[in-house]
Formats: sequence, structure tokens, C-alpha cells
Amino acid sequence: MSGFEIIQKGKENGDGVILRYRTRKGTDIYCLGVPLNYSSGEDWDLGASWSYLIDGNRLTLVDTGQFNKYDVFHSMLIKAGFDVANIARVIVTHGHEDHDGNLPEIGEASGAELWAHFAYPSMIAYYPDIDDGARRPGFPGSCRCCMMPDSFNRNCTGYQLKRSRIKITNPVSGDTTPPDSDFRFILTPGHSPDSLCTVFQNEVVFSGDTLLATITPHPSLMLEYLVNRRILPGSYGTDNSAYGLLAYLTSLHKLMKQCAKTSTLLPGHRLFEKGAINRLKPAARAEEIIRFHEERCENILRIMGNTQMGLKEISVELFPLRLRQGMGKFMSQREVMSHLELMNVLGDVAWEDGKNFISRATGTDNYRAFFVKMLEMPPVSDMAQRPGNK
Ligand SMILES: [Zn+2]
Repeated sequence: MSGFEIIQKGKENGDGVILRYRTRKGTDIYCLGVPLNYSSGEDWDLGASWSYLIDGNRLTLVDTGQFNKYDVFHSMLIKAGFDVANIARVIVTHGHEDHDGNLPEIGEASGAELWAHFAYPSMIAYYPDIDDGARRPGFPGSCRCCMMPDSFNRNCTGYQLKRSRIKITNPVSGDTTPPDSDFRFILTPGHSPDSLCTVFQNEVVFSGDTLLATITPHPSLMLEYLVNRRILPGSYGTDNSAYGLLAYLTSLHKLMKQCAKTSTLLPGHRLFEKGAINRLKPAARAEEIIRFHEERCENILRIMGNTQMGLKEISVELFPLRLRQGMGKFMSQREVMSHLELMNVLGDVAWEDGKNFISRATGTDNYRAFFVKMLEMPPVSDMAQRPGNK
């Protein structure tokens, strides 16, 4: 029978949980809830980082868990009935430490092909000779704008160095031929410039952090493009379609259209939560997140009224105190910033003092028409092929 089955019980938040998902064609996908090194507290808890093992023609792994978790990952793999040497292909959803963490070890032990977004090699490399005002010029591309404190960053250094030596055998560009006919790739920049979604058997979508269950992923900032444009490959380096909320929403729109016929979302976090599986449809989840950001734009404009305001003042009105403490302080202000950047492009917000991020509303609501476009349904021909539509 197709669908989910619990193979190993673990914690309520998914840590240590192993699920098996059987597709309609009968392929088994093992879902491994690899625990994170840190717990970010109840409100920001991401739960486990999910790795997926597709037992198809060639054993394929999507994402490799957080760094320094190789032993846990390996024992879960054994529990599911496999060993690292069996892995023929690894697909990386994006270059963040909680998703490509054990890639150097797994790559070495398996000799597997490595598939990743064409911008991924630029994200794992170092740029000691580029002096462009990056907050962390000594870090690799993925982390040059990192806002985490030094105490956190020190832990990543060894992993980043090892990661920089990885060779991506199969960089995925818009027209890359997928591994075999069961796979399809969709480039979805926005959460990070190198975000990649993988569709399997037109049924399952592996979304990394582009679509998450029950939480909205953090968009990157257009500001980061200004810092990183010199290191980005191809068209990403000449025109910003990789960073910020606009890029992210454009990717969600793409998913809505291209995943209309898929039924199962296998996300990077929160597949399993509060002791239960989150069963979500990819296109519907993409639509929900687009609507969420529309409402957030509306709320921010309402808060701003016709006075000029800073990031902190807006975030104080937008988020309750518990979401603005510790890490939440940066996260909440970044969230406001990403919406101000979008509305600035649309003409609804103007910078009064760009250096200090003080802005005011212009009185227009162009964002409404923008979101109507983002929520447009797939073309009729596509809809007609959906099961149940005659
Ligand atoms: Zn993540």
C-alpha cells in the first residue's frame, strides 16, 4: 500500500524517527529524522533535519543531515537496512549546515555522484581576495553574511573547510538532464541562492527549506545580493534573481505551477511534529506561504501608517515579545526587512534613511496586484490532467 509507515519511533519533534513512504509506483523512500546540534527553543524549534533515501534504480540520498552528526546519520541508515557504501547518488537541497552537514564523509565513504544547484559550488568556496564589505569575509560564500554570534560560528569552521574540498559531479542548471526519468529538478532560489527542489515520479517533492510544514522558511535579503554578486555564477551575478523575498515568492509561484499534480511534500524540517506526520500537498503549501507573505505586507503597511519607522519599531508591533528574544531579535528584524525590500521594489515603501533602514509607506498598495499574479493558477491544460478533473 502507498503512503507512510513508522519504522522507528523517536522523539515527538521527529528526532530519531524513521518513516517509510511508499510511492504509488511502489518505490520505498526512507525518511530519516536526523537530530540538530542545537535546540532553538519552543518557538523557533525546527525539529529534526530530514534526510531521504530513495530505494529506486540507484540508491539516492536527498540531504545529509547537520554537520557533526555522521554517527547518528549512519546508525539510522543501518536501521533502515542500508549502508553508506550503497549510496550511488546524493542530491543536496541547499548549502546550509543543517542540510549538507555530513556530505564530505558520505561522499568519501560512498563515492556517490553529487548533484546540487549550479550556484552551490560558489557557496562552498572561499574568497580571501574579495574585499566587498561582507560581514564575514573569511567565511565561505554561503556564510559571508552570517549573523550568528562567534560562539556559534566557531563550531562550523571545520565542517566548512572540509565541505569546500567537495567536488560537485553534477551541477544542476535550468536545463540539466535529471538522473533518470523518475526525477525532475526545479531551481528555487530565495531561501538561499542555491535552493533546489526535486520532484520524484511526479508524486513526491523534496523541498529542503523552500517549503516547510507549519513554519514559513526565512527568505534571504536583497542586501545580501549586493555583497555576494561578485561570487555568483552566470546570470545570478548580473541580475538579482537569487536573493530576497521577491526571488523566494517567484520560486513558490513556480512550485505552485509545476507541482500541481504532485501529492506529497517531503520537507527539510517538520515532516513529523508533536508525535504525528504532517501530510501536505506541495502546491497547496506553496500557495499558503504566498498568502502568508501577502498578509504580512498588509500588516506592515498598516503598522507604518504615514509615519517613518525603523526595523525595530516595526518588528515590536508585528511580533510578540517571546519571538523577539535571543535569536528572535535578528530573525524578526530580518523578516521585516525582507518585506520592506519587496515593497520598495513595488513602490509601496520608500527609504527615508537607507543606511539606518528607516522607511515610510508611499500610500500605494501595488503589492496587492503583485500577489494576485503570484497566486495565478496553472494554465487550464495543466489542470485538465489532474486526477478528478474531466
Ligand atoms: Zn534547515
